[in-house]
Amino acid sequence: MIQCKKCTKNAVVFLPYSGEKLCRKCFLTSVEKRVQKAISHYKMLDRSDRIGVAVSGGKDSVVLLHILNKIERNFPESKLLIIYVDEGISQYSNNNLKVVKKHSWDLDIPLIQSSYKKIYGKTLDDIIKIAEKEEDKRLGACSYCGVLRRKALNRAALEANVDCIATAHNLDDETQTILLNFLRGDLNRLARNSPTNKRVHPKLVPRIKPLRTIPEKETTLYAFYRNLKHNSKPCPYAPEAYRDDIRSFLNQIESKRPGTKYNILRLYDKISPQITISQNSIQECSICGEPSVEKICKACQLLS
Ligand SMILES: [Zn+2]
Ligand SMILES: [Zn+2]
Repeated sequence: MIQCKKCTKNAVVFLPYSGEKLCRKCFLTSVEKRVQKAISHYKMLDRSDRIGVAVSGGKDSVVLLHILNKIERNFPESKLLIIYVDEGISQYSNNNLKVVKKHSWDLDIPLIQSSYKKIYGKTLDDIIKIAEKEEDKRLGACSYCGVLRRKALNRAALEANVDCIATAHNLDDETQTILLNFLRGDLNRLARNSPTNKRVHPKLVPRIKPLRTIPEKETTLYAFYRNLKHNSKPCPYAPEAYRDDIRSFLNQIESKRPGTKYNILRLYDKISPQITISQNSIQECSICGEPSVEKICKACQLLS
């Protein structure tokens, strides 16, 4: 038997980057503590915030909701809301909504629903069909969805009058995005990822990422050990190929040199204050009025 580093129980989890071996209970506590630490380190939340949690029904979003719900109990003036945006991906979205409704009910957290159909007049399925017909092969489904989801979440968050949107991006998502934007030479997008909760524009709801220091393996284990119901089926649209390459590259390096992902994140946090886009570069889209760095926002560009 291998003993837990913090108590006398049997260790079931090994964290290669720190060398820790932990039992189930100490592992769960460790994840929660690190999320709490990230929230205070990056000053993500104020005591009386109304927090809109973007819950898709996937494991990370469900883990985020449960951990925030635990943390929030210590701050009675704050309030949690669930924001669910239905992309309209045939069977996939229906399953997600069922999961989200269950957690909303179990935790007694109000659910705010929006959809691509409501905001754009079309589901993602409709939009992809049109794009395929026009042989618009420049962009995969994920690129469309990323842009449209961002705007839909912001719209729903504005209507719900929340102070911030909490999204479930984990350490793997974050380091992949950093590397991806770096390799593409896209400074604007690289800057946009910085973990600030400042309101740079009145119509742009700040985003926080409380799970950004937690590796994906650990969010998976957290969901498993807490027995959290989630939609484990992957999205039917194939993931972006470039991101997939970077994911396997990062995982390869991480297994040889544990801690690499943390190094990327730490370095990014040091340099990102220098590259943050200035406030006055954000204007309002001339078609939909949404905050945008260009004259016409990305969502309106794609939909045209
Ligand atoms: Zn223990
Ligand atoms: Zn627009």
